[in-house]
Amino acid sequence: MESQKQVIERLRTAFRSGVTTPLQFRLKQLEALLSLLEDNEPQILEAMHKDLAKPKFEAVLSEVDLVVNDLCHTISNLHSWMQPSYVGKNLATKFDDCFVRREPLGLVLIIGAWNYPLQLIVAPLIGAIAAGNCAILKPSEISKATEQLLSALIPKYLSQECYAVICGGAEETKLLLENRFDHIFYTGSQAVARSILQAAAVYLTPVTLELGGKCPCLIYGRLDIKAGAKRLVWAKFFNVGQSCVAPDYVLCTTEMRDALVPAIREALEEFYGPQAQQSPDYGRIITDRHYDRLMELLGKSEGKVVIGGDGAKEDRYMAPTVIVDLKESDALMQEEIFGPILPIITIESLDQGISFINQREKPLALYVFSDESQIVTTVLERTSSGGFCSNDGIVHMTLPGLPFGGVGASGMGSYHGRWTFETFSHRRGCMLRGWGLERISMLRYPPYSERRLGW
Ligand code: NAD
Repeated sequence: MESQKQVIERLRTAFRSGVTTPLQFRLKQLEALLSLLEDNEPQILEAMHKDLAKPKFEAVLSEVDLVVNDLCHTISNLHSWMQPSYVGKNLATKFDDCFVRREPLGLVLIIGAWNYPLQLIVAPLIGAIAAGNCAILKPSEISKATEQLLSALIPKYLSQECYAVICGGAEETKLLLENRFDHIFYTGSQAVARSILQAAAVYLTPVTLELGGKCPCLIYGRLDIKAGAKRLVWAKFFNVGQSCVAPDYVLCTTEMRDALVPAIREALEEFYGPQAQQSPDYGRIITDRHYDRLMELLGKSEGKVVIGGDGAKEDRYMAPTVIVDLKESDALMQEEIFGPILPIITIESLDQGISFINQREKPLALYVFSDESQIVTTVLERTSSGGFCSNDGIVHMTLPGLPFGGVGASGMGSYHGRWTFETFSHRRGCMLRGWGLERISMLRYPPYSERRLGW
């Protein structure tokens, strides 16, 4: 079996040969990736069901279809994205060719997390291929079935010279990170991101960090509470709350909370029946360790559980849970929950809600539910977050036109659609000069005069 170093060397040699650069090669690989997804959809869905008991609909919507859409969008637009963009010129460069050229970076490393085990590897890979790079993929070892399937399928469909999957956990990833890459694209926790940055610093490797955090959902002013509760419940309990963009907690007034809790209860019952454990549409917690972490967090909380709170460890089932009367210092408010627990924090005014958000790290997504556009605009203008969506959750990340990524502690860089292509491209500023206009050119040579050149 090849060592990590041999794989890296092999891919580097392929990159240096220039094989990944032509449009036709990139398109062929993207089409092969599309075939991989189309030919193997049942196996892919089965693997994600094994890993997370992912309901088929959720897996198709948020993993397979999401990357298929991104692939089709990229295939249709790649030729135009690869064209140089010409820039404005001045008198001194009037007859020159001045343009930005998108060039591949080289060999890139893509490290994925377990919660969307297909999407978090394939979506960055689309841009890495489109931009003409070679890539090493390191799926999460925690979502084992999907990791194994990807490592079996990728070499069957994509050029083995240019793309490889390396399996393993923290130790294997640390070893991998001792090597030089031209870009590291990491999705995962803030804690591990720090060691990724340290490893990248050795070679000054640029990184994209797709991290998490606590995404607030501010519900304020007039709105249809029933519809609001349905959208909130869907976004929060999709993938059992194990989404980086799941609403982590709700901020609302006491009156709103009193109306919201029964509406949430009703929505939950409508979606998952009286016992979510029996519902085929409700997934499971990824591992025993995460189950214990969530139950421990709930146990430490001083809030009052008004919905759910129970679970079955042997099944890694945790009931959709809503908790109220929490203080800011509550255990549930100290870290990203990443599970099916929804705390509701009460506020007295919109200002208080905005300053609650602004006192914390910048979130990956920020949600505002309100029928009053002035409220939505005020929150949009007075806060900062990776992405923003009003009156819904998660759906903003399905549009390839919108950059997806964090800001501050929720990450750096972005991707999806053209943004992934840009992430994996170097924008080379080029000026192709001729020998004309020497009289103007001469003006810059010493001995200098007081004249202004006006570049
Ligand atoms: P994680 O950081 O534990 O693991 C992610 C990857 O890092 C895995 O491939 C793992 O093998 C590797 N890894 C783990 N420990 C490592 C170490 N010490 N050194 C090097 N590599 C290591 O994250 P996770 O638990 O898999 O994912 C959960 C986090 O990811 C949450 O915070 C969530 O919000 C975030 N997330 C963000 C996005 C996004 O797009 N922004 C998407 C999904 C998840």
